[in-house]
Amino acid sequence: MPISIKDEAIQSIFNDIEQLFEETTSWRRHLHQHPELSFQEQETAKFIAEKLECFGIEVKQHIGGNGLIGILKGLHSGQTVALRADFDALPITDLKEVHYKSQNPGVMHACGHDGHTSALLSTARVLAQHKDKIHGSVVFIFQHAEETPPGGAKFMMEDGVLDNVDVVFGAHLDSGNPVGKVSVGEGYRMAAVDKFKITLQGLGGHGARPQEAIDSIVLGGQIINALQQIVSRRLNPFDPAVVTIGVFHAGSAFNIIADSAVIEGTVRTMTEDVRQKVKQEIYTIVQGATDAAHAQVEIDYLHGYPALYNHPKETAITREIFEKVFGKEQVQDLNHSMGAEDFSYFLIERPGTYFKVGSHNDDAKTGFPHHHPKFDFDERALLVVQKSFVSLVAHYLFKDE
Ligand code: MN
Repeated sequence: MPISIKDEAIQSIFNDIEQLFEETTSWRRHLHQHPELSFQEQETAKFIAEKLECFGIEVKQHIGGNGLIGILKGLHSGQTVALRADFDALPITDLKEVHYKSQNPGVMHACGHDGHTSALLSTARVLAQHKDKIHGSVVFIFQHAEETPPGGAKFMMEDGVLDNVDVVFGAHLDSGNPVGKVSVGEGYRMAAVDKFKITLQGLGGHGARPQEAIDSIVLGGQIINALQQIVSRRLNPFDPAVVTIGVFHAGSAFNIIADSAVIEGTVRTMTEDVRQKVKQEIYTIVQGATDAAHAQVEIDYLHGYPALYNHPKETAITREIFEKVFGKEQVQDLNHSMGAEDFSYFLIERPGTYFKVGSHNDDAKTGFPHHHPKFDFDERALLVVQKSFVSLVAHYLFKDE
């Protein structure tokens, strides 16, 4: 498979990226100081729109909510490549001692979405300066609300964000890997996330007279134990899945049999088949145990983000490009994770791949896990994100002169 990256063109864009590093960093720090929660990102969206307009890029706002896109048409016709960054923050108090720490109490960019956004803005800016080289178009997708299901991606998609797009790419910073490393992998790499709430209705009574009551705690305990057998006894061991109970509320005093109980949990699976199977098993187990206890039950089952599937062809192209641009030793296999990411919706609609970009250095301050109150990253990782995006665009849209 030939990789048609025009070395000289790419080198000149990479130089531009390096020259703009200070400004990219200042945008990142501005966003870091002004984080906004999922579905409330009006100011961030405005900031992005203003920047894109400054670069002479056509902007479409309010796509599926606070989402927006920049459309860069090249001077020649061709395919459309979409690049995506997410821009929401988390309900976490920023505990870092840096001058750019969050000024919005209780809200923090603790996942690096400020980095994704500033890197994509900077990518848009340099590509706009080189649109004479582009055969086709680039759509810069700025997505709101990645952190909170149902998520922004679904709404943006329903609003037609991918209508004219041929291929789509997303990047995420990765504090578990050093700056310079990029992780790429095909197939299912992140889990589908579902959540459920089981409300048990027994019959309250005196702790000394169990024969007159229906004990919701005993029933709840049986259900919780039986649910552990879905993964261990019902699924093929080669099919990854997690069933976690995170909530069990019941009871009010030592000598009262609990009238009702609430159990909440999450299900993580990698394929649609297994996802449906686990759901069915939960219903069967809960209903069976409830019937046997002469109790009543209500189950709320919510489907969250689907599993993230990286398309093999686009992933292979991406790996080959990155090996050429960054060196073979910098490209590694993307870890499988039972975490979730709503970029998966885009990959259901269009081919593409989601990759990770290492973001820590020798300073422990850049090594905290994502969603930690001291999360931070080496900003040079933004250069890697931009170079990744630019080289993908070059592969698809730059042609031999
Ligand atoms: Mn994230």
